[in-house]
Amino acid sequence: MEIYLDANATTPVLPQAKAAAIQAMVEDYGNPSSVHSTGLKAKALIDGVRARAQRLLDTGDGASLLFTSGATEGIQTAVLSALNSLRGNLKIDLLLYGATEHKAVPEALKHWNEVLGLRLQILAIPVDTQGRHDLAFLRQHSARAGLVCTMAANNETGVISDLDGIEAALAGSPALWLVDGVQALGKLPLRLQARRIDYAPFSGHKLYAPKGIGLLYVRAGAPFTPLMAGGGQEGSLRSGTENMSGIAALGAVLAALDDGQTLRDAATMQGFRARLGEALVEAFPGLVFNAPLDLSLPTTLNFAVPGLSSRLLQDLFDAADVRVSGGSACSAAKAAPSFVLQAMGLPDWQAAGAVRLSIGPAVDEAFIDEACARIRACGESLRRHCLSPANNFPTIGDGITRFMQDGACCYLLADSVSKSCVLIDARPEQVCRLAQALTCQAYPLLAVLSTTGEAEHAQARELLAETVPELMPNKPADALGWPLGQAAITLGAQELTRKIDGQGQVLLLGKVACATPVLAFIGLNDAESLSAWVGSETLLAPARDEAQQLALFLKNERQAEEEEAAVQQVQGAQLKAFMSYHPDALLIDVREPYEQFLSHTPELPTAQMEALPLSRMLNAMQAWLSEQPQRPLLFFCRTGNRSRQAALALTRLGHAQAWTLAGGLALLPSAARPMHQPDPALYV
Ligand code: PLP
Repeated sequence: MEIYLDANATTPVLPQAKAAAIQAMVEDYGNPSSVHSTGLKAKALIDGVRARAQRLLDTGDGASLLFTSGATEGIQTAVLSALNSLRGNLKIDLLLYGATEHKAVPEALKHWNEVLGLRLQILAIPVDTQGRHDLAFLRQHSARAGLVCTMAANNETGVISDLDGIEAALAGSPALWLVDGVQALGKLPLRLQARRIDYAPFSGHKLYAPKGIGLLYVRAGAPFTPLMAGGGQEGSLRSGTENMSGIAALGAVLAALDDGQTLRDAATMQGFRARLGEALVEAFPGLVFNAPLDLSLPTTLNFAVPGLSSRLLQDLFDAADVRVSGGSACSAAKAAPSFVLQAMGLPDWQAAGAVRLSIGPAVDEAFIDEACARIRACGESLRRHCLSPANNFPTIGDGITRFMQDGACCYLLADSVSKSCVLIDARPEQVCRLAQALTCQAYPLLAVLSTTGEAEHAQARELLAETVPELMPNKPADALGWPLGQAAITLGAQELTRKIDGQGQVLLLGKVACATPVLAFIGLNDAESLSAWVGSETLLAPARDEAQQLALFLKNERQAEEEEAAVQQVQGAQLKAFMSYHPDALLIDVREPYEQFLSHTPELPTAQMEALPLSRMLNAMQAWLSEQPQRPLLFFCRTGNRSRQAALALTRLGHAQAWTLAGGLALLPSAARPMHQPDPALYV
């Protein structure tokens, strides 16, 4: 079962809202502008929903409450209305918005300011470390402002704005006031009638109505310019035939708010959030909340965990079928820090590592129980895989593990028989993570090497010596980390030798006393010099891999500009057919072990399945290429990104049957997900 903890992004549709929408589509499908009975019925429905919304939002008489397509439309309408009224007003030269507003607000200000040719200055109102508006700034600038936009509660952090303080700071200001009420709907009373708020947009899909329906409150007497002109619907304030199924569904949600049974009150939600918070703190030692809980909606938690990226945490939660959101926009390679948390002045690691967990008021005790259990399982998975900030399990290290940092690759070579290891091209930013991995496996390091001789590698070596002095090599080494006077470093049945190349060295790994190396760790070497030391079958593991190639052969290195090989894809819907056509296919889960651990039982019992995280792929590539060059290999992961990388790398290296599951597990119905059991031998 999916545990959906992303209600601030959107919510599922309440069953009664779905029923109301279907009724409006199938039975009461009239156009409310028609004067016949079917139309009158539709008109009565709209009037009823509007009246209920007016009462629940406390709009008072005389104000307008329009049905819109959502909050973005409401914001456009409000901004257009306000800015249109400012034309020719020479006392106004400023538009203000809170620094943590949803992008729809500043973008609408910019857009309509340009379209209307107003050339007003647009300024962000700073927020403090708690995410609250700087009221002194507002007081200072409000006399020149034509429009002030401040959200009621923030979508990323849940921080509730001090609307009374803002109203007081606006005393004497000519500014119109827009309050984005999206995250407050059903959670926080806005007292629209009592406050001087001029415009307040709302969105149905944040509170169990479908997408495509919203509301816009406009105070009596506030300037108004329709965004859409046409048939004169909504008293000519918003033309276009009404979204009757959306309105009916929203009506059912508002009725649920009214009945006091379906949706929980703030105190209950506070209790639920406290339980989720406790589970998080227990699962992730050192976790920090990014916003003060007592100033936030009781439905939102935004947090970061030292040493764990937002991306890693999202992958982890998703593997446990728990849907959360990154508090920041993530690209495949790097998480962009959240502008909301940056505006609050939080440290970079918190802004870049943020995760948001949000619930809606329809959740119940059993749901929270399950959510807490899954969060604890996530913590357990991290502990078992040596990624928890504390209390990790010992692990057995064996083979090669690759650690990536902004395109740079570090390799940890471990041998479980001799219980020793070697580190290649470590960077200072990775030291915490590497020290954790080294401590969990507790093998002494035989060398900490650099292929390029760059200063960062030497710095990392020094930092490691401070962090894990007991595991550092005990022999003196040269500037590249190579033990003085030693021709080879023996790692169990394998040995590492080296060739000096300019400032750096090429590190050759092969069986003891075997002439051709199986693997070469390369730095900035050119193909010419490499060809003297490696064979055509030697895999080259690069010190940088921005192109996400994983590994190369010398011939690929020579054809550096070679076009990207086409990757063979299997669509989710074709998976069963693919398996019957290729019964010998090997399905390879390239997700990390901490994700695999949280997965459930196999649903493709006949399929041969293997777990090989992308970070450990170097250990298997040679065998797949030389021993199983014709065997279909179908790589899969959560979203299809990592499996694509793996399939592409194998294809480029010459494997004829490397496939990726396009879109990953995320696009498969859960019943069809190929899963394998975690290997208990990985832990001791
Ligand atoms: N304002 C806030 C605070 C939001 O959270 C959102 C949605 O993410 C919007 C505006 C935009 O709402 P809609 O999706 O209805 O256009």
